[in-house]
Amino acid sequence: MSDYSNVTVGILALQGDFERHAHQLEILGAKVVEVRVAEQLETIDGLIIPGGESTTMDILIDRFRLRTPLQTFGNTKPLWGTCAGMILLAKKIEDNQAGITPLGLLDIDVVRNGYGRQVHSFETPLPAKLGGTDVTLNATFIRAPRITRVGKNVKSLAYYEDSPVLVTERTIMASSFHTELDDDTTLMAYFLDKTLAARAQS
Ligand code: GLN
Repeated sequence: MSDYSNVTVGILALQGDFERHAHQLEILGAKVVEVRVAEQLETIDGLIIPGGESTTMDILIDRFRLRTPLQTFGNTKPLWGTCAGMILLAKKIEDNQAGITPLGLLDIDVVRNGYGRQVHSFETPLPAKLGGTDVTLNATFIRAPRITRVGKNVKSLAYYEDSPVLVTERTIMASSFHTELDDDTTLMAYFLDKTLAARAQS
């Protein structure tokens, strides 16, 4: 495992499941910043938008004046959206009755709650290919978004029932599911490796 003690990762902490991500980053030895104001984006190497409620986060992003700073950050730095975070990164939300304005940083379309509602939440071993290595993630789907289109520059790293559920484009990454709810730090370590690589290139 790499040494992550020099890596600082922000977690958008307006709402949702940011504490579990922080816990995993601490296990892996990285520094953590709970991001609530734009200036904090200048102090971090990568950012996670956690799961939660995308409608609420959408409103709070504007209230905290973070929309343009987040878009600027995502154009050059590593950004990982899980679940609600994936919805916010997408280009388009299908059947967008809640009127969410996605950040449009990742060339995918999604449909919210595409794997059923809360009662249909499930945990599953999920094969994925991370940096050319085959791994099995412990994935939890909770009112998860389903990806309905991927752009031509988007790579799919894992599939569930033939639909991509883990995708990446440039230094952006998004997962429909959660891996931060237990001690499976595989995907977090992959994000930290991406963050280290991006920093080495900048
Ligand atoms: N269904 C939620 C939404 O649309 C996402 C759920 C989650 O992040 N676990 O915001």
